[in-house]
Amino acid sequence: MYKKIYKAIKKYDTIVIARHIGVDPDAMASQIALKESILYTFPKKRVLAVGTGGAKFAYLGTLDKLENVNFSESLLIITDTPDRKRVDSPEVDAFAYKIKIDHHPFVEEFCDLELIQDQKSSACQLVLELIRKTKLKANVSIMGKLFQGLVSDTNRFLFNTNAELFSLLSKMVKEYPLDFPKLYQELYMRPFHEVRLQGYIEQNMKVTEHGVGYVTLTTQILDKFSADAGSAGNMVNNFNYIDEILVWATISEDKKNEIIKINLRSRGPIINGIAEKYHGGGHKFASGARVTTMEEAELLIHDLDRVCEEYIQSMEGETK
Ligand code: AMP
Repeated sequence: MYKKIYKAIKKYDTIVIARHIGVDPDAMASQIALKESILYTFPKKRVLAVGTGGAKFAYLGTLDKLENVNFSESLLIITDTPDRKRVDSPEVDAFAYKIKIDHHPFVEEFCDLELIQDQKSSACQLVLELIRKTKLKANVSIMGKLFQGLVSDTNRFLFNTNAELFSLLSKMVKEYPLDFPKLYQELYMRPFHEVRLQGYIEQNMKVTEHGVGYVTLTTQILDKFSADAGSAGNMVNNFNYIDEILVWATISEDKKNEIIKINLRSRGPIINGIAEKYHGGGHKFASGARVTTMEEAELLIHDLDRVCEEYIQSMEGETK
């Protein structure tokens, strides 16, 4: 599979790299690192990394406009995205050839070649393996970005972390002098208003009978903290390791898009099935959903509470 991807990269002069909407560090780092690696290996190719960026991730690089591309002669590579509707690119089907590189559970087939490995930590790990297993070249800047995506998606080596990943990293660190303090600082620096919003969430989180912690962030509250619907997503990982909470959710009003965005995390119960039921998806323990009314958000919390109850019962069954 890696060889086939390399062959396609070699064949096309113009390559567009896209990833999912609602950009995060793994999506953007996998896209930009792959672009830089292709250009470093084949300097004459035209490679564009497209999608809506976030100023927050500017340290990963800049994005390109999808302009003057003859789609019928170009290759599209999509990283970190399991389904067509979440691809952050105005064009998908017009391309001559499409490749998917993803670590989400399978949702649908929409590319000519699909590298899907949902047991892998991150899209960045798959790009790293692609570089390792083919003639694609890398440098310290490319490896630094892959490291950042990997750190972010594993939540600093908490999820999907295993011997294979550490051995890949050990090789990376031996060969490239990564500046860890700088890389971590770029990833985790945040404005004070976000810290204050985190304090608000901690003060106001409600907990259901079976351990679902949730907080509602209305437009009024978000405005008060100079935050937006994306802000909770940057801090949702911070509510782990609370005795009373097994699953937690931030429910944020997204005024601009007229939806309610829900970030979901779990430290045991599997939540992506519930996320899918509410127009979302994601990983077993890290998912997202979108609803249009607060009533629907309440139903989602109710469903999560049931999942927690079943989880508690199954754990009790195991210890008997
Ligand atoms: P987030 O809370 O935004 O960091 O998202 C956690 C995971 O859930 C990521 O893998 C996202 O790709 C996925 N995800 C978030 N929102 C959605 C959605 N509306 N539909 C499908 N997957 C989503």
